[in-house]
Amino acid sequence: MSNPDRYAVIGHPVSHSRSPYIHSRFAAQTGQSMSYTTIDAKPADFETTVRRFFAEGGKGLNVTVPHKEAALQLADELTPRARRAGAVNVLALRAGGKILGDNTDGAGLARDLLNNHRINIAGRRLLLLGAGGAARGAVAPLLGLKPSEMTIVNRNVARARELVERFSDLGSLHAIGYQDLGNDPYDLVINATAASLAGELPALPPGIVSSRSICYDMYYGRDETPFTRWALQRGCARAIMGLGMLVEQAAESFYLWRSMRPDTASVLSALTAELRA
Ligand code: NDP
Repeated sequence: MSNPDRYAVIGHPVSHSRSPYIHSRFAAQTGQSMSYTTIDAKPADFETTVRRFFAEGGKGLNVTVPHKEAALQLADELTPRARRAGAVNVLALRAGGKILGDNTDGAGLARDLLNNHRINIAGRRLLLLGAGGAARGAVAPLLGLKPSEMTIVNRNVARARELVERFSDLGSLHAIGYQDLGNDPYDLVINATAASLAGELPALPPGIVSSRSICYDMYYGRDETPFTRWALQRGCARAIMGLGMLVEQAAESFYLWRSMRPDTASVLSALTAELRA
């Protein structure tokens, strides 16, 4: 029997990742012979680690914090949505040894909001926290859902402004710093910062959340994140963690690698139960 095709998620830190769990279930479900592990690589080691992985026969990588912009530079070819986002969260080996970069984060988020949580964004005010790799992937798919306006807030405001320049042809988009947030509630607040990963909360004024606001943290864990806990304490309508986004973006990556669409609902409910156990 031939060896399974090798895949992995590369990040720093990465030990918390549930991607191996998800992809092993996708593989079992679709009868694919593949292995999927985690690779911890510091930013200085990212490029050599990725090149070694592919040189040694690896077929594909998911890329997570903080390497998504470095992955963009490394890829030989980009999909249109990765080029547009300026960030890559999945790499695939192509014929001739070329490395293709794609971005499935935004599609995964949009699918989770629409299909798993039935959230309609059309005509709503949307606040996006963060302007890193995950935010870059999310802006175009979110504007595609036609919010009335979308504001990007980031500590480093220049990074938020760069996203506005990149995407302002797609809808009403603004960039601000946390000190300019004000106290008007938003209909949907999406946390795309890495703050929860460090157990931190961005500097948010309480008034941005009302009893009608839906708050979504891309980060996920066994317990509430600092952001979802904060939002629940302020009486938001719903607080959601990004487990569904993780499963949906993984399914898009799986499709890129294996040309097969796995069933996400069964994997999402198994993962939710496992995290609660
Ligand atoms: P990056 O390192 O690319 O970007 C980090 C972002 O977070 C920057 O905007 C940074 O702001 C901001 N930030 C970091 N710490 C703080 C803080 N304490 N307060 C306010 N802002 C902060 O990370 P990614 O974009 O790749 O990932 C962001 C988060 O999204 C992570 O938690 C990751 O786990 C999650 N994620 C979840 C996915 C899912 O499928 N559920 C998929 C992708 C990501 P600045 O620029 O000012 O430094």
